[in-house]
Amino acid sequence: MYSQDAISGRRRGRPEPTAEMLSGLACLICGTDYRSAPDAEAVVVSHRDDKQQLACPGPCARLASGSVTGLDETPLPLAERLSRHQADRS
Ligand SMILES: [Zn+2]
Repeated sequence: MYSQDAISGRRRGRPEPTAEMLSGLACLICGTDYRSAPDAEAVVVSHRDDKQQLACPGPCARLASGSVTGLDETPLPLAERLSRHQADRS
């Protein structure tokens, strides 16, 4: 489910999410690229087209989902998110 707050928050002056954000490869809020920060924690904050949208736990997650820990859901492994991202582009 989308969080209406997150959607309206994004429309209020935030840049459009990048393809990496939409594939769960980067924080939806601050844009931290999890591919270059493999140790960074990420939590699931929403979904779009069946893909998990991730954010850093804490302020980013709270902005995106209303909860500092995001949704009660385990993110897919980075390698899996990456292969789905690349499959989307071909
Ligand atoms: Zn972040």
